[in-house]
Amino acid sequence: MRLKPEKKRTGQKSIAMIIRFRSKDGQYRLSCEGDTPFQDVLSELVLTKLPPMDPQTLSVTMPGPDGGERSAGEVGTQTVDGLGLKNGDMLMLKYTASSGNEGGGQSISGKGSVPESVGISKVIDGSAASTSARAAAKQSALDDELDRDPGLIPRKRGPLCKHTDKGMCEYCSPLPPWDREYQADHNIKHLSFHAYVDELNAKVNKKEGGSSYIPPLKPSDFAINRRCPAGHEPWPKGICSKCQPSAITLQRQEFRMVDHVEFENSGMVNNFINAWRLSGVQRVGLLLGRYARYDKIPLGIKVQVEAIYEFPQVDREDGLVLQQWDDEHQVEALADELGLQPVGVIFSDLSDAGRGDGSVICKRHLRSFFLSSLEILFAVHWQLKYRNRCKWSETGAFSSKFVTCVVSGNSSGKIDINAYQAAESAEALVTADLVCASTHPDQMFIKPATPDRYVPDIFYQKINEYGLQVKHNAKPSFPVEFLLVSLTHGFPEKDTGLFRTTDATALAPSAFPVENREYLGDHADLRTLQTYFSCFHTPSNTDPDTFLAELSSFHVLFFLFCANSVLSDADRRVAVRAVRTQDPAVAVQLLDSDGFKTLQTLCRMA
Ligand code: ZN
Ligand code: ZN
Repeated sequence: MRLKPEKKRTGQKSIAMIIRFRSKDGQYRLSCEGDTPFQDVLSELVLTKLPPMDPQTLSVTMPGPDGGERSAGEVGTQTVDGLGLKNGDMLMLKYTASSGNEGGGQSISGKGSVPESVGISKVIDGSAASTSARAAAKQSALDDELDRDPGLIPRKRGPLCKHTDKGMCEYCSPLPPWDREYQADHNIKHLSFHAYVDELNAKVNKKEGGSSYIPPLKPSDFAINRRCPAGHEPWPKGICSKCQPSAITLQRQEFRMVDHVEFENSGMVNNFINAWRLSGVQRVGLLLGRYARYDKIPLGIKVQVEAIYEFPQVDREDGLVLQQWDDEHQVEALADELGLQPVGVIFSDLSDAGRGDGSVICKRHLRSFFLSSLEILFAVHWQLKYRNRCKWSETGAFSSKFVTCVVSGNSSGKIDINAYQAAESAEALVTADLVCASTHPDQMFIKPATPDRYVPDIFYQKINEYGLQVKHNAKPSFPVEFLLVSLTHGFPEKDTGLFRTTDATALAPSAFPVENREYLGDHADLRTLQTYFSCFHTPSNTDPDTFLAELSSFHVLFFLFCANSVLSDADRRVAVRAVRTQDPAVAVQLLDSDGFKTLQTLCRMA
């Protein structure tokens, strides 16, 4: 199907023409117009016609006696007319095939044997042309480890077993990590991501048979393809079954990228909630931590949160506004040195119940919403920023491990945390610019179709009161629950982790002010340090353990090394090592450094 353009383009001439190409692999024809940027023509060629090749090596020889061989990057900056090309012209192509054996199928013989390189597009000379060339997608070491683990669920010898202790039968053989009955029995709401991938691989890539490898995952793409492989003019001028996104049916996501959020000490959460207790306005922070195995779920992953960095923000009783975040890369750099990374966001939605007993209103429940449509878009924004590298995906990336936590009132009026992720489909809906927040927080609004926005049919599928699957039209809005995945959360039995000063039982007398809390009159300066470090006011009996405990705070480290420049990079490395190793002997090295002595003098004068 090909639609006629709604109205003739005015102004410049734009004559449709055919340009021919010849390479060592064959001849190709492409239709274009005089004003088509030549880089678009080349992209289409590379994407849809040429065998896998290295786009960096692509060169074109123009027709005519003085054509000459020119690099793709050079000619890509001009239009078809600009290059003087005419209908039927023949251009010669040169390129080298990309290394490796992409193109054909990869053989798979068992878990973890898939080559490292899968998917991800490349760019010609910085231009927008992407190719099918496969670049290495380096996923995390944790993902590699979980890929190698078959994750089998062992079972004990049961009453139906007829064999001896050494035998095994269908009643006691281990279950695969994606077993639905096990999931239901243990009240696990979603499959772990790796169990999900393993199940897909078991279906798609049969271990026996040794046929070709098919990437089991492909990120959802709901946008119209404006470089249609059928070769017609891009939408809205043309459309066909190849470039038109198919109808979307939203369902509850069966898996989750992360299963559990673990706060390494309760003090940091308490300290975060204190901002609301002291001010009555809401708060948002960045969770810094790491990903680790979560053994309560087959092939599960947990987030271990070590610290909460609080963004520059303007807080209100009913919400908040994020301000420009100037020290973003400083926060990330310090976190990285400490072996941490941004793993999620946390925000509060607390209102005192007015009973005078500290109880709070339960606003988020089954009959209202858990995350509002606006908050889901906020979660998606972060998830798109922190993509999950994944070798099982056709593009080398798949969804995100970034989590979103809400601190609000539970059904018994207590302050509680809930952890979520936006579904992968939510990421795709946002990427294709199809949704926006609704005035009803439990509804996501579908944006109207415009000349620039193609909106496919969107449905959501639900099991009705008679147990039947029913499809509903999702336009103009649909329940946000279809875009939400819930995670569990908790605390380790004993407070552990890198940082200790925010812990109520810490050796440090008081917590160091959290960044960006000036509105509470909480401001860190040299005078604060003078009070904070006990070694500054009682230098005669400096205890290395106390000093190390006081140093073990993200907020202190951030103030010492990001907000202040008294200490050197060398001091910074010692401090980071002291905290990471929790070795008082290393902490003493910092205490004895010239930089720290200068700091001490400055603090005394402050
Ligand atoms: Zn048995
Ligand atoms: Zn098409």
